Amino acid sequence: MQVEPEKIPAMLLERIDCGVVYLDESGKVLFINNRAEQLLHVQRGQVLGRRVDMLPLRTPLYRVLSENSLDAPVEMSVEGTVVQIRSCRLPADCGKGELYQLRDITPERNERRQREEFVAMMTHDLKSPLTVIMGYIQALLGEKGKIDHSLHLFLGEMDKSSVKMLTMIDDVLDAYRLEAGLLQIDRHSCDIRPLLEGCSRDGEREAAVHGSSFQSELCDEIPPMELDSKQISRVFANLIGNAVKFTPRRGTITLSSEVRDGFLRVQVSDTGIGIPPEELPRIFNKYFRAQAARGFKGTGLGLTISKAIVEAHGGSIGVESTAGKGSRFSVLLPLHREKEAI
Ligand code: ADP
Repeated sequence: MQVEPEKIPAMLLERIDCGVVYLDESGKVLFINNRAEQLLHVQRGQVLGRRVDMLPLRTPLYRVLSENSLDAPVEMSVEGTVVQIRSCRLPADCGKGELYQLRDITPERNERRQREEFVAMMTHDLKSPLTVIMGYIQALLGEKGKIDHSLHLFLGEMDKSSVKMLTMIDDVLDAYRLEAGLLQIDRHSCDIRPLLEGCSRDGEREAAVHGSSFQSELCDEIPPMELDSKQISRVFANLIGNAVKFTPRRGTITLSSEVRDGFLRVQVSDTGIGIPPEELPRIFNKYFRAQAARGFKGTGLGLTISKAIVEAHGGSIGVESTAGKGSRFSVLLPLHREKEAI
């Protein structure tokens, strides 16, 4: 049978393994293909010609099409199936509508989960022997005077490297916990000034080792806040660690804080390599590392985890940077629990 050429595109759209939905400028459904009907458990007769915002709220079609998937794909579970949604605005000569593409990514998702569970198990198992090794190193370090001086120095280096390794293992484990919704935040009343002073002392030591200087401009009078102090220290330690790592010798790292409009703002600035504008939007993505960071050690997980921790406290984290000049990371935390950062 000969098919009329003008009918071929529509026919192909009905056959492809990808759901396609087209809305006109007013949000009316003008097209939905076979696969989209299956994925969204809907029949075209029920929705064609209707505006999405007039559909019942809980229908999969409404949920899927109300997500903002313009900038980045969104994943959503629809009755046990994981659907990836991508959308794009069509130009005026195509009617200025919005085109949605839907893919069933359940198998990839399951495979990814299995892989992550394996990595989580491995990293967890690596932690136990490492903790034992660290315990013995600590015990030997305590024997100063009784052991040879150069041996003591070597032990100090082994101790530093094992602490770094433990931090990396913890980051990988936490990235998994984050994905699985298992990252725990334990908030309690906490005096944040001593916590910042501790971070400042550690930063000063780290900066000195790298040949840079460290400035601390901490404000007084921060009221007690409800925080998970261990996790929040980790955020600042990560920002300071990055600032030191990405700043060549003789640079300056500054830790500052201020209280304003019900929020505590902590900033970590550096005079380091900076981040180019095209890479800046991806800086908090899991495993993302800028081109210029390739020569430095790291996992690309620290900022992802830091962002999740800050947001779990109702706060926000942002960055301003100029390539070749330096970066400034700002953490905004509400002083009181009910206030949310913008
Ligand atoms: P890691 O430091 O382990 O690579 P992070 O998640 O902490 O991972 O940071 C992600 C990326 O963001 C880094 O690889 C680097 O490209 C960039 N970055 C973070 N902090 C800075 C900084 N202070 N200066 C320049 N680049 C930075």
